[in-house]
Amino acid sequence: MILLNNIYFFNFANNPVMYIDTIYIISSKQKILLLFFYKKTADIWYNTYMEEIYAKTILQRSKASMDGWIYQDYNMNLYRGCSHGCIYCDSRSLCYGIDNFDLVKPKKDAIKILELELMSKRIKGVCAMGSMSDPYNPLEKKLELTRNALKLFYKYGFGTSVITKSAMVTRDIDLFKLININKSVIVNITITTVDNELQKLIEPNSSTTLERFKAIKQLNEAGIKAGLMLMPILPYINDSIENLDKLIELAREYKAHHIFAIFGVTLRDRQREYYYKHLKKLFPGIVDKYKENYGESYSCQSPNAKMLYEHLTKKCEEYKILYKIKSINESFLKIPKQLALEL
Ligand code: SF4
Repeated sequence: MILLNNIYFFNFANNPVMYIDTIYIISSKQKILLLFFYKKTADIWYNTYMEEIYAKTILQRSKASMDGWIYQDYNMNLYRGCSHGCIYCDSRSLCYGIDNFDLVKPKKDAIKILELELMSKRIKGVCAMGSMSDPYNPLEKKLELTRNALKLFYKYGFGTSVITKSAMVTRDIDLFKLININKSVIVNITITTVDNELQKLIEPNSSTTLERFKAIKQLNEAGIKAGLMLMPILPYINDSIENLDKLIELAREYKAHHIFAIFGVTLRDRQREYYYKHLKKLFPGIVDKYKENYGESYSCQSPNAKMLYEHLTKKCEEYKILYKIKSINESFLKIPKQLALEL
């Protein structure tokens, strides 16, 4: 008999997928019997091993632009790292200095710090979340940092712009609706492919494409402007006209407010290494094409970019889905920037 206690199993993103409290293994004539085990994951993990990081500030002032692809007066990340595991994630780049990126760490006292900062800001602008770390990562379900930040935006009169790949965003529809009464709210849900198998390979721990489309529909039906962030488009992987066409059809079916697309991917240093490492395993031969066509270039545009953009334009015009960033920004901003500056 072998007796084991307190065993954790991790997925490749270093998050616990199973906790086994006790195993009695009885081996008799090559038979192994697991007498007692159970799955507990999250709670035990959070209480035992969750690591917080210290932060002096949460809000960072941004230069808002109507032509900027994420309109934001402030940028913020309540967590460091992300466990969604996207193989192309830019936040792995050296310039951000995040080691062990796949392990999410909440910022200590983030909500207290944020409240003090919001109270002191003269410009009651749009606070963006999701540029470096998904605000709806699995820890959020328990910690509710994002939810508490939304409560503060409502309390102190700020708008918000959220980017996520998680359907958990619909949990906060009540708060988005409250903020949306007087301030600007937009939700961008990143969707890259209709192919479920491909999605699991390139974004293994995020919500499925269908779950994300359903979230878009639910948000729009609640009066919140929600649409697709169609990026990155990875050369030779998800850059087919068929993929784009099906995504636009789904966007129409699920009542997306907008589709904002960038037909390429940016790659640099550590991010490129991680991406190529996974491409070699998942799509043998493609790394050679990348090296041949892009070398060390930061910007890697799909060879189909022009054709894809023309198709997007044609279909979005036909279906009356916004696709130009300026129109998207104008549609969700409640007050012109000039007015915001005067507040
Ligand atoms: S959801 Fe965003 S932040 Fe998280 S791994 Fe994917 S690309 Fe990176």
